[in-house]
Amino acid sequence: MRKVARKPAVPRKAEETVRHAVIALLGEGALSARDISMAVRIAEKEVYAHLEHIRRSIHAAGSVLEVTPAECRDCGFVFAKRERLTPPGRCPVCRSETILEPLYGIKRQQGHETG
Ligand SMILES: [Zn+2]
Repeated sequence: MRKVARKPAVPRKAEETVRHAVIALLGEGALSARDISMAVRIAEKEVYAHLEHIRRSIHAAGSVLEVTPAECRDCGFVFAKRERLTPPGRCPVCRSETILEPLYGIKRQQGHETG
């Protein structure tokens, strides 16, 4: 691990490049935040920030961010009503902390074919 000295804030252009990379990835299939963070080399918490932004921005382009809800590995409880993109810490039913991560994908809605 190397320390990054006096690195300025990430320029806007780099932010957009990451965002486009994430959009391209999710267009190919659903991935967890961890998958995305490894693929585009950003921290997992940054993935959620990008996903929030992407969820809003792709809507205008006629696409939707599809979230496969997190699920408790122990009792099978599905976190279907969860609005936030970040995964839950523990199951409200059995209190297990073994939670299957939610998956994110981008689905193009019909009637907005641009080619
Ligand atoms: Zn459970």
